[in-house]
Amino acid sequence: MAGIEVKTTDQKTAPVSAEALDAFRGGLRGALCLPGDAGYDEARTIWNAMIDRKPAAIVRALGASDVMQTVRLAAQHKLLLAVRGGGHNIAGNAVCDGGLMLDLSLMKSVRVDPAARTARAEPGARLADLDKETQAFGLATPTGINSTTGIAGLTLGGGFGWLSRKLGLTIDNLISADVVTAKGEVVRASATDNPDLFWAIRGGGGNFGVVTSFELKLHPVGPQVTAGLIVHPFAQAKSVLAEYRKAVAKAPDELCCWVVMRKAPPLPFLPPEVHGTEVVILALCYSGEPASAEKAIAPLKAIGKPIADVVGPAPYAGWQMAFDPLLAPGERNYWKSHDFVELKDGLVDVLLDAVTKLPTPACEIFIGNLGGAINRVAADATAYPHRNAEFVMNVHTRWSAKPQDAECIAWARKLFDAAAPFATGGVYVNFMPEDEGQRVRAGAYGGNFERLAKLKAKYDPSNLFRMNQNVAPA
Ligand SMILES: Cc1cc2nc3c(=O)[nH]c(=O)nc-3n(C[C@H](O)[C@H](O)[C@H](O)COP(=O)(O)OP(=O)(O)OC[C@H]3O[C@@H](n4cnc5c(N)ncnc54)[C@H](O)[C@@H]3O)c2cc1C
Repeated sequence: MAGIEVKTTDQKTAPVSAEALDAFRGGLRGALCLPGDAGYDEARTIWNAMIDRKPAAIVRALGASDVMQTVRLAAQHKLLLAVRGGGHNIAGNAVCDGGLMLDLSLMKSVRVDPAARTARAEPGARLADLDKETQAFGLATPTGINSTTGIAGLTLGGGFGWLSRKLGLTIDNLISADVVTAKGEVVRASATDNPDLFWAIRGGGGNFGVVTSFELKLHPVGPQVTAGLIVHPFAQAKSVLAEYRKAVAKAPDELCCWVVMRKAPPLPFLPPEVHGTEVVILALCYSGEPASAEKAIAPLKAIGKPIADVVGPAPYAGWQMAFDPLLAPGERNYWKSHDFVELKDGLVDVLLDAVTKLPTPACEIFIGNLGGAINRVAADATAYPHRNAEFVMNVHTRWSAKPQDAECIAWARKLFDAAAPFATGGVYVNFMPEDEGQRVRAGAYGGNFERLAKLKAKYDPSNLFRMNQNVAPA
């Protein structure tokens, strides 16, 4: 093998000699892939097709030892290092151009301890991997709504989905993590071991080290929940959203209802004439006792005159995959996001106006329903600070062809600007695109930023872990 040139953190390149590469490869359990090698393109291809980067080398890690060696190699030569978990993040920081990429996607093991109600997940596990293993014991932990998302990036940013109003964020259920620090050493982070690091990784993203194992608390869930979609015509959107606001304000924590506004996909339960027209979809999940589901959901079912109501008993692990077909990898994507305490009338007007101008049939506006147990945690208890947000808007701009980039991105930015006066100013770090570095301090972390920057200086003073929504060392 010949030596290679690898991009460094100061945007220069460093030579890694053939001997050093051979020695490094010999120490790995997993593979070292160079451009052209089997696995290279698979590892560098991520969910968002806007990101097409070519690392100088990719380590396809199989365990903590591979991670430690990779971090040490990167630290020794000051190499630009990108870390990939599930490869779903919109910003695309999982891949770097010309640097070293650490691909964790082959580390997928999930082990459940049903007696202790805990699970251990490796960082390449997807939400579906976790759900399938935990639901085999009738257990679950709150995660996100798209089952192909990686547990690693999701957890490190916060993590919320159908169970979060009842059971909190994913980080609120994190018991401990094994973290490979910038020195290439493994440390345990928990309430008792390195509690400052444990605080930082619960929302601070990949800034503090590479997590090789997540220990999560599990809860009895399902296996059947009550879930499904209620689809309304866009002509009724204003009154539907007004009624939705009232219903969710009084909803029990077990009920979570998101709003999706988009052009109707050709779902089999929708009449053909509705396909391709704008609709307002209430997507809900009730995870309490089945006997109390009907009463809990009644206020949402009573809204307006829906085109379709397909809410009923569903396997929890199956409902977790309900949005996968609409959120499949391989499309071009750009996101914009705001948090809200209330969905004010003026905001509703802004959203509805944007729905009439959707640039492609795959674009959609999601309003996630937060609150409940998430907001009963103090804003400074974890690095994730948004414990006041009741709703999160995510503008999913999605299209296939590069020539549409400018039009689609402009639509998202315009909507984002118009919605800003109604927003908290906070933003969920995991929904930020790559051009929002200026929002990290005040938007993503607010009052927690200074503490994060000090901990960054303690755990990663040279900012080795910089391919993320970066917190520079204080
Ligand atoms: C279609 C879709 C739906 C989504 N829905 C939700 C949702 O319902 N709820 C929600 O909370 N979020 C949701 N998200 C956002 C999701 O949480 C983030 O995209 C998250 O970063 C994905 O994690 P990943 O491991 O797949 O991503 P990656 O792109 O692999 O990783 C993201 C970043 O995390 C860091 N990282 C990854 N693994 C590690 C590790 N082991 N150690 C240290 N750092 C690491 C790296 O900096 C990396 O750049 C959704 C995303 C998509 C694309």
